[in-house]
Amino acid sequence: MSTLPESVLEIAAEIRAGQCTAAQVLERSLDRIDAADASIGAFEDTRADTARSMAATVDEQVAAGHDPGPLAGVPIAIKDCIAVKGEPMTCGSRILDGYVSPFDAAAIERLRQAGAVLLGRTRCDEFAMGSSTEHCASGTVSNPWSHDHVPGGSSGGSAAAVAAGFVPAALGTDTGGSIRQPAALCGITGFKPSQGRVPRWGQVSFAPSMDQIGPFARTSADCAAIMQVIAGEDARDTTSAAATMGSVDLDAPADLSHLRIGVPQEHLDEGNHPAVNDGIERACDAARSLGATIVPVRLETTDLGIACYYVLGPAEASSNLARFDGVRYGRRADDVASLDELYERSRTEGLGAEARRRIVLGTWVLSAGYYDAYYNRALKVRRLIHDEYAARFSEVDLLLGATTPAPAFKLGSMSDPMSMYLCDRYTVTANIAGICGCSIPFGTADVDGTSLPVGVQLLGPLLGDHVVLQCAHALQQTTDHHLQRPPAGLNQN
Ligand code: GLN
Repeated sequence: MSTLPESVLEIAAEIRAGQCTAAQVLERSLDRIDAADASIGAFEDTRADTARSMAATVDEQVAAGHDPGPLAGVPIAIKDCIAVKGEPMTCGSRILDGYVSPFDAAAIERLRQAGAVLLGRTRCDEFAMGSSTEHCASGTVSNPWSHDHVPGGSSGGSAAAVAAGFVPAALGTDTGGSIRQPAALCGITGFKPSQGRVPRWGQVSFAPSMDQIGPFARTSADCAAIMQVIAGEDARDTTSAAATMGSVDLDAPADLSHLRIGVPQEHLDEGNHPAVNDGIERACDAARSLGATIVPVRLETTDLGIACYYVLGPAEASSNLARFDGVRYGRRADDVASLDELYERSRTEGLGAEARRRIVLGTWVLSAGYYDAYYNRALKVRRLIHDEYAARFSEVDLLLGATTPAPAFKLGSMSDPMSMYLCDRYTVTANIAGICGCSIPFGTADVDGTSLPVGVQLLGPLLGDHVVLQCAHALQQTTDHHLQRPPAGLNQN
């Protein structure tokens, strides 16, 4: 078993070539989950039986001489807010207790067609609202690097499942940083596609103008392999992009001499943990050594991001979450005397504090009298942020900066919602502008004797997904930060 391949690309290649079976790779994942997920908590459930039948189908196809597809037999964990036909989906909320999805998300249909083995639903913050996965109705998730620390959020279960080695890849969603931030905190690669790149059909809406599904894996090459499968237009999401994603040449020499990379000086903030700024400097050195031209740039709208996001996001959420009313989906309050009481009690019993906070905030900023002062004003700020990125991307090809201001914090240590919101300072503006971004691990920080990963963020223009992934791949060919593993033995506790 120890000779089984670990990466998405190697697993698919060896299974397609008949050098190992999908069943062997799946059983290894299930064994690892059995041995260590009790102390991590990445999964809501593993769906082992359906996974076994998917793996068996892949093995039968190979045996019959058919090609199961580019992700043949690759176990992929799915964030619990992406619909999988016939499986429960809770979005980390009590309000969806008992809900079973009658259909597959577009991204899930594409993973199935590519031969992937769907392995488990991963924990997330309720309706993807949060930065620590502590707002999940079924429990918290530990960071595989230190079980006292959060894995980040909201896709913390997916990030932890990959970092712990349970699965080679997972899907998450990113509305304001929920793929990039947990990837940074767990020491893996996480890619947030351009708005419209991956269809949102079957992704439970939080703030659809900013929501995107994307991959987690150890390497950007593996993320690229998954993107090639899940990207592309879908008629059921009219906001999905018609243009096909450019290809990422994984065999190309690691050469960045054609790239100008801007480093937003606002990302090198003195308030960051020093290891974050160090990571950016080292990533710049690595890019320079591959021939890239590194130029300091300004990104003055960085400071406007959080305020703008926490008007737009809650406004969209308040309208999208109105569908969870106790009538159509999931949990319904008993013994009610009126329709109003049904709504009120079902939502009060079913929704957690953070989701309620966002709904109240969003309803308020959209209400008559405040709409212009808040929602319309935030839309104007959105235009400023968009225009500033457009101006930078007319001068440079990519931007290289921080993913998060600091490494993972301790579970239970961040009680103030505002401090939690500030974790997304460097990620939200990409969603507001619709551009793409990738967090790649670039070293570790020593926090009170605990070694915790630090990520850096590569940002690219709208639909420049392949440029970001190609650059991240080049950097990962000459560095080994993405190959570091959590301390041995920790997961067996
Ligand atoms: N942490 C941010 C929030 O709480 C981002 C969430 C996300 O990207 N889904 O809204």
